[in-house]
Amino acid sequence: AVNGRTPLIAGNWKMNLDHLQSIAFVQKLAWTLKDARHDTGDVEVAVFPPFTDLRSVQTLVNSDDLPIAFGGQDLSEHDSGAYTGEISGAFLKALDARYVIIGHSERRQYHGETDEQIAAKLTAAHRHGLVPIVCVGETAEDLETHGPSAVPVAQLRIALGGASKGQEVVVAYEPVWAIGSGQAATSEQAQQVAAALRAVVAEVLGDEAAAATRILYGGSVKASNIAGFMREADVDGALVGGASLLLDEFSSIVRFRQ
Ligand code: PGA
Repeated sequence: AVNGRTPLIAGNWKMNLDHLQSIAFVQKLAWTLKDARHDTGDVEVAVFPPFTDLRSVQTLVNSDDLPIAFGGQDLSEHDSGAYTGEISGAFLKALDARYVIIGHSERRQYHGETDEQIAAKLTAAHRHGLVPIVCVGETAEDLETHGPSAVPVAQLRIALGGASKGQEVVVAYEPVWAIGSGQAATSEQAQQVAAALRAVVAEVLGDEAAAATRILYGGSVKASNIAGFMREADVDGALVGGASLLLDEFSSIVRFRQ
């Protein structure tokens, strides 16, 4: 993490916490961070609740002016129409969502999302003024066959084909073998791939964009390993799954500098 890029700690709740639970959680999270605000400094915190929670989270965050951003876990590549079960970027924007996660490995695995669809979703996010958090990462098998950065680099190159120049993108490197496994990548591994991904951003969007783009690491991030990742030059934050549901743990991750 260098160069004045604001660190981003993002909590991907996946299919956990209903709208009532989400209100309780965000309220408590804001409370635990309040005391420590002067120590967390410029760290940006974002949560990614299920769609059905977003209106509740918006109401709470706006009425109490909480320093917590939020976003969707996915969006449709389409804007409206006969797409049963899908959620458009326009709907997310109308709820003040700042971010949207795109191409999470669970979407790729269980919903067959392709790199081309992910590029189209990135275009949709930008069309609606949302900041896409584009997830890339290799499976254990990919790692064995292709080495550490080949697959995430190839995935990102296609996804960024959908980006609009001058609009912000966040990249999340999430090795599939590290997600929910308790076995995080080492900070050196994360740095190596993050640097390769930054080179892809430079190649597709230019050097200036590459210097400004935040690259997150995700996969079994917890309070005890976050500081190591954040020390790496090209790692600018984390996408946290399981630990983002544990109040004290997540709060400690946000306060990684302490
Ligand atoms: P994990 O999930 O932190 O539970 O490994 C990360 C993610 O899937 O974004």
